[in-house]
Amino acid sequence: MQLWFDSAEVFIGGRWYLPESGETLPLENPSTGEEIGRIARGQAADIDAAVQAAREALAGEWGAMTAAERGRVMMRLSWLISQKIDALAEIEATDVGKPLAQAKSDAVALARYMEFYGGAADKLMGETIPFQDGFTVYTLREPHGVTGHIVPWNYPMQIIGRSVGAALAMGNACVLKPAEEACLSALAFADLARQAGLPDGALNVVPGLGEEAGAALTAHPGVNHISFTGSVGVGKLVQRAASDNIVPVTLELGGKSPQLVFADADLDRALPFLVNAGIQNAGQTCSASSRILVHESIYDELCTHMAAAYDGLTVGPAIEDHRVGPLISAKQKKIVEGFLSKTDDNHVLSRGRIVDNAPGGGHYVAPTLISGIGPDHALAQDEIFGPVQVILPFRDEEHAVEIANGTAYGLVASVWSADGGRQMRLAKRLRAGQVFLNNYGAGGGVELPFGGVGHSGHGREKGFEALYGFSVLKTVAAWHG
Ligand code: NAD
Repeated sequence: MQLWFDSAEVFIGGRWYLPESGETLPLENPSTGEEIGRIARGQAADIDAAVQAAREALAGEWGAMTAAERGRVMMRLSWLISQKIDALAEIEATDVGKPLAQAKSDAVALARYMEFYGGAADKLMGETIPFQDGFTVYTLREPHGVTGHIVPWNYPMQIIGRSVGAALAMGNACVLKPAEEACLSALAFADLARQAGLPDGALNVVPGLGEEAGAALTAHPGVNHISFTGSVGVGKLVQRAASDNIVPVTLELGGKSPQLVFADADLDRALPFLVNAGIQNAGQTCSASSRILVHESIYDELCTHMAAAYDGLTVGPAIEDHRVGPLISAKQKKIVEGFLSKTDDNHVLSRGRIVDNAPGGGHYVAPTLISGIGPDHALAQDEIFGPVQVILPFRDEEHAVEIANGTAYGLVASVWSADGGRQMRLAKRLRAGQVFLNNYGAGGGVELPFGGVGHSGHGREKGFEALYGFSVLKTVAAWHG
């Protein structure tokens, strides 16, 4: 299939180049296992050139722009993205294996991020601070300088939108290292940014391997802030590398997010959210809800409903837009199957169905609903990153909190209950960066600050809050007598 955009080059200083080594890497369609093209194998020399181009942008046209002018460029970019939603969705479906409708909503979110942050660019203000006689004291919000953005393969467009969008709005110059498994949408985004009039060097994109281009970016002394989204293991490496250069890091890592379902919950409303939060993007979502905690009085009833919902799930090629697509790679499939082998069929309540015409080379795993295991079981503790949910019963509110907070992670959580007091209590007690009451995910929530605690990471992206993270506060104390 001919995609609207592809490139085996790096984007540096507003131009496309072959990587310095001339080397490329294969790009696979996860729905078929076939190679669909090549991408640049960017390495340290390319990262160095990208950081240099970003520095020049800060010293040049980009750095001289007013906040309102930056916002206008981002609005133009938003509009250009909105004209390419279907083409971007097709790229993402082919490159990530994301069912077409889900890919489309990611493209819409990317346009919305540029609109939101474009609109916010000139809205973040400093303060004046009451101080001693003879002084006027005020604060300024300034860009960090060069920001490094390392993005995973599961939601490239959304994660680029939230991190690069906020960084550009604050006047930073960005070097983006997309994931080697899926980076075509990042490259297409760069080309649209160029068309929108983003000054040269304000955004640079260097695809490549994590241990080469990614490690070079996090270790580069010319980078002033790093935004990393990915696994806990690599997050630790990134934080260590950043500590050598004493630069701030935002870590958006994994999760094992619970949904707590009480006996007074509206089950008709809850059911689609309970299931979708586990199988969306084939469970390869940091904020996937992989644990469903249910009051023991409705445990059997909910198991029956969820099992029936799983029975109706179909898994197939992304471009055919089934509820569930393939996993990103053979490696990810092996990881998920490894987890499933830690239990046996007695604990499988239900499975979805892989369609008959699913290509043999695709990385398909049937969504699997597990019950009858304890909260300390590996499937209830570790991030699987595949379409697997476990249902766990709880006795009372206290027990529910104990299970919910009983993993190393703390990304998001939800409470399904009609009791307002319980909602408020649990919103405070649940260890998570976002808590949803009688919903889950709030439709993606471009406007809503997002991030974790514990092994889910630190720092916040999305919403207005991200602008604080992507800027530095300067205090000016003027003595005038
Ligand atoms: P990963 O950590 O393997 O890779 C993420 C990115 O880091 C990729 O671009 C990769 O090339 C790069 N990388 C790898 N090694 C590196 C190194 N040594 N130095 C610098 N960069 C390096 O993660 P993944 O498998 O691509 O993504 C899955 C993980 O991401 C899951 O744990 C998931 O929960 C997490 N995630 C979190 C969020 C969030 O917002 N909290 C969102 C999406 C995904």
